[in-house]
Amino acid sequence: MKTITTINPATEEEITTYNRISEKTTKEKVAKANEAYKSWKKTSLEERSKLMHKLADIFDNNKEKYAQLATQEMGKVIEQSRKEIEKCALICRYYADNITELLADKIVETEASKSYVTFQPLGVTLAIMPWNFPFYQVVRFAAPAVMTGNTGVLKHASNVQGCAFALEEAFSEAGFPEGVFTNLNVASDAIEAIIEDKNIVAVTLTGSEPAGRAVAKTAGENLKKTVLELGGSDAYIVLEDVDLEKATDMATFGRLQNNGQTCIAAKRFIVLEEIYDDFLKLFTKKMKAAKMGAPTDEDVYYGPLARIDLRNEIHEQVEKTVQQGGKLILGGKIPDRKGAYYPATILANLKPGMTAFDEELFGPVASVIKAKNEEEAIELANNSSFGLGSGVLTGNSKRGEKIALQLEAGNSFVNKLVTSDPRLPFGGIKNSGYGRELSSYGIREFVNTKSIWID
Ligand code: NAP
Repeated sequence: MKTITTINPATEEEITTYNRISEKTTKEKVAKANEAYKSWKKTSLEERSKLMHKLADIFDNNKEKYAQLATQEMGKVIEQSRKEIEKCALICRYYADNITELLADKIVETEASKSYVTFQPLGVTLAIMPWNFPFYQVVRFAAPAVMTGNTGVLKHASNVQGCAFALEEAFSEAGFPEGVFTNLNVASDAIEAIIEDKNIVAVTLTGSEPAGRAVAKTAGENLKKTVLELGGSDAYIVLEDVDLEKATDMATFGRLQNNGQTCIAAKRFIVLEEIYDDFLKLFTKKMKAAKMGAPTDEDVYYGPLARIDLRNEIHEQVEKTVQQGGKLILGGKIPDRKGAYYPATILANLKPGMTAFDEELFGPVASVIKAKNEEEAIELANNSSFGLGSGVLTGNSKRGEKIALQLEAGNSFVNKLVTSDPRLPFGGIKNSGYGRELSSYGIREFVNTKSIWID
């Protein structure tokens, strides 16, 4: 039997070994999710809302336990893990409170005596999820899916299996019938067969570009709808009229939150030349002062990366960039300590074609780029294969808005770090994926948008 052992990235100690489920058990669980769908889709929105509120309460009541588990499995600083659990409760309540409006029929005036659009569930959705927000990413998919009357099966990242089982238990404790939300403890080599399973109607993946390509290929061959939330290399344009203290505070937090492992983290800072030197100096001071340490300590700013191999990968990207002519301003050395730690790092003098400009750097490494003027800054920001988030930091929000409208990304924020909000759609363009999550746009991804005509 295949097993998976979770490892604490801060200590490199083993946490738990889980048995992977067999192909036969996987098929049975997916079939059960489909059986559950047949009765779940008939439940009223009120009944679903009641259970969703209970799930929100479970997140509140178990905040510390879940936060400790996430921190232990993937290294997030404990206070940020608590915030993640709070956000799970928020999302559950958003869908519980707004579902009637979100799924309301839309009357369309035609020559018919009555014609309208109605939104019906589709069946079992497969969710393939990453470790970086091990509770939140799953809830972002599961809460709307379940509220529409779909059921879901989860293939979570291998290193956060404890979180995956905790989520399954939480759904069960809230009173959702068996099969409405199921954890499939399988490795990624089992995914192709799951997508091909006739009981799976759609697939959503949050993860890296290669995983997105592999999943989209199989789903495409099987004509199954997909939503892909992939990587990003978010550009923040820093204009010369900015308050540098505020801008560098935001840049430091933006780059180091979640130990640098956020899809919508600020990764490339494109700074106008008038303030480039001052920005770099102050940003370097603040990044240097940020305390790295055990993520269970309340006073650390950032902890280890989620796995040793991921730490080694980012170090290679830094070294490659330096060989290509990038200037290492801060960090860039693997510390001599146990754990997947990597120090706050700044690379400057970057240009298109260099690794840190072109690729996603999923860790505490900031790329600083000089732009001659606003036009060049926009051009550099858009010179990316990714298009997830982006931002403008400026003293003039009107000017910021004008620039935000020109940025090629699914989310462009002025004077605020990009964040997800259940009231607004979230997703990317280009190689950051397609489709949207959250809000009324997200909930419509996995429904049958059906036209009804009564002549
Ligand atoms: P990952 O390696 O792609 O893993 C994500 C999930 O996909 C895991 O469950 C993984 O399973 C599975 N997987 C990996 N390779 C696969 C394949 N070839 N076929 C099918 N499934 C596969 O990504 P990660 O390292 O966990 O997460 C980091 C990436 O996710 C970054 O690029 C980040 O930007 C992106 N991300 C995007 C968003 C967004 O909303 N756009 C949010 C968070 C993260 P195993 O763990 O078993 O390998």
